[in-house]
Amino acid sequence: MEDCIFCKIIKGEIPSTKVYEDDEILAFNDVNPAAPIHILVIPKRHISSLADMKPEDEKLVGKIYGVINKIAEEKGFKDEGFRVIVNCGKNGGQEVMHLHFHILAGKQLGEKIV
Ligand code: AMP
Ligand code: ZN
Repeated sequence: MEDCIFCKIIKGEIPSTKVYEDDEILAFNDVNPAAPIHILVIPKRHISSLADMKPEDEKLVGKIYGVINKIAEEKGFKDEGFRVIVNCGKNGGQEVMHLHFHILAGKQLGEKIV
């Protein structure tokens, strides 16, 4: 996707602080962190949002959760806990239209909505 900032990060056209990378998935620090640890995990394949997921993307999304656990283990916040958020569409507050999983960690997170 030409104008997608996360696709540009994947291509290296926009710099990022990489946390994890394999052939299908990239994780990098959020530029505007909402917690001491704020990492975004994205598929390298452009999927606009959770609502645009196709059945063939399900395996990849499952793998993303595995990567999230791996990052939690490697960064040392697996035991103390963390939160994973996916904002979807207008009412979900999604600003970047490339599917991404926020990992928030490093402090007691406030304001539980659910
Ligand atoms: P969302 O509101 O769920 O779409 O989240 C988009 C997230 O992308 C926000 O937390 C932004 O801070 C983050 N973000 C936007 N541009 C960049 C960038 N160039 N590098 C890292 N994170 C970014
Ligand atoms: Zn994209």
